[in-house]
Amino acid sequence: MQQEETKSIETDVLVIGAGPAGMAAVAAARESGASVVAVEAQDRIGGNAIWSTGYVVFVDTPMQRAEGIEDDVEEFLEDAGVIADRSRGDFGVLYDEKLARIYGEESAETYRQLIERGVRFPRFIHRPKQHQLDRVAAVEDTQMFAAAYQPDFDSDEVTVFYRSSARRLLTDSDGAVVGARITTDDGTTVNVIASRGVVLCAGGYQANPDMRARYQPESRSTKPYLGIDTARGDGHLMGGAVGGDLINMTFIPSLVIVASSMLEESIAIDRQGRRFHDETGVYEDRVSAVLAQPDQWAYYVFDGVTAEKKAQYVEQMPDEAVSSETLEGLAELIGVPADQLVATVDEWNETLESGATVDPLQGRVSFPVDRRGIRTGPFFASRMVAGCSFISGGFQVTTSMQVVDVFGDPIPGLFAAGDCVGGFNPCADLGGIHIGGGLTFGRIAGHAVASGDLAKPHTTSPLSRFLPSRVGTTMEIVHVES
Ligand SMILES: Cc1cc2nc3c(=O)[nH]c(=O)nc-3n(C[C@H](O)[C@H](O)[C@H](O)COP(=O)(O)OP(=O)(O)OC[C@H]3O[C@@H](n4cnc5c(N)ncnc54)[C@H](O)[C@@H]3O)c2cc1C
Repeated sequence: MQQEETKSIETDVLVIGAGPAGMAAVAAARESGASVVAVEAQDRIGGNAIWSTGYVVFVDTPMQRAEGIEDDVEEFLEDAGVIADRSRGDFGVLYDEKLARIYGEESAETYRQLIERGVRFPRFIHRPKQHQLDRVAAVEDTQMFAAAYQPDFDSDEVTVFYRSSARRLLTDSDGAVVGARITTDDGTTVNVIASRGVVLCAGGYQANPDMRARYQPESRSTKPYLGIDTARGDGHLMGGAVGGDLINMTFIPSLVIVASSMLEESIAIDRQGRRFHDETGVYEDRVSAVLAQPDQWAYYVFDGVTAEKKAQYVEQMPDEAVSSETLEGLAELIGVPADQLVATVDEWNETLESGATVDPLQGRVSFPVDRRGIRTGPFFASRMVAGCSFISGGFQVTTSMQVVDVFGDPIPGLFAAGDCVGGFNPCADLGGIHIGGGLTFGRIAGHAVASGDLAKPHTTSPLSRFLPSRVGTTMEIVHVES
């Protein structure tokens, strides 16, 4: 039988995945003068950022200074540390403060580059329960992220394989990563040989039921995920196969599945037709509030203007929304007392009209941009469902984003960024560090792999700490007498 021919191409840098991390890695590698091959499973760049609400944390930016906000890295680290610590009761957490510090120092440059590339952030999102001051910026349109980086992908120095997936990393006899085997959209197998290295930017593993089942209890692993279907954990699996040290893999935060952008204009009601929590508060608190409802019964309520303006996000909801021309009709459809639903909506509208900065009922501080109430029919109700949107597990890396093995040794030729990296994401409840982290650490990884300018590893690896004398040497088997 004739063997199918495997093609081979050569490049300086291979970037696997083109979400925020991959886009920034490609741009930085290109700017550093490298030739780049990018492989992307979807037919476009942008990854989960296109599905997202586009909130991004930036530390110490002109946007803040224009509003008289004085931010600094230490204050950011304080906030991030508090959030990471909060999760220790629920997950095994290895939080890499060195990465958080780099983020604090570098996110302003990410902001600068995004603005230069035409991305607009018209407003802050107030999150006083997570941040001491305003630093969560909302993008005007999530399509802007991809548009900002498309010119790099269209340039002569970058070869892009769309609708194509990396399947395996290729290594040399010393274990250095020298490229990857990919399957292109027409089914051809191509070995991409990357002389300077490979950057794993393939996103998370939340769309992979087998990986969810491995790392989550069944009660959580079967809960739905909202986002791109190619968050299959390919990067985690390929990097793990060559020895990369995966941490925080059980850390898959439960979230009420809803785009924050839609939420800004919605309230949540219980079976009595009453609001029962701060809809825009801390992620965990929202999940607990829904789980505490009998049969986990709860709905978001919003009006026709929101439904039209935010149609993309309404369609993304796990269950189809129901609607009626009147609030009374909506109440009947979902089975809540009509007079109470009307009273709840009236109270919400009055709060908005009053100009209050804190909602007296639930302490909510995030309101619709124009403080527009729920007033225009038809009125909609969309079931609240607890599931997940993102993960926190990924590789341990050096400060140059080089993947390390379980002994803390960097793997030659292998880099990672975004959701393929584990140490920074435990502070995810800050809201906006996934996209910001992808863009910032993707840029650092792209520059490092292209330039060869590598930092020494910092050893947060648990095994390298506990077995320091064995790092880099052959493991010995120790027999313990019983
Ligand atoms: C509904 C929703 C709302 C969100 N809102 C926010 C928000 O407001 N702020 C925030 O910070 N974060 C938000 N997030 C999270 C954020 O979007 C992601 O964490 C972020 O996009 C991760 O960036 P990334 O580049 O690491 O991965 P991704 O954006 O997931 O991109 C990875 C890319 O790799 C590709 N890929 C995967 N496997 C392969 C393979 N084998 N070969 C080739 N390509 C491959 C995928 O197709 C994808 O395009 C949200 C997520 C969701 C789902």
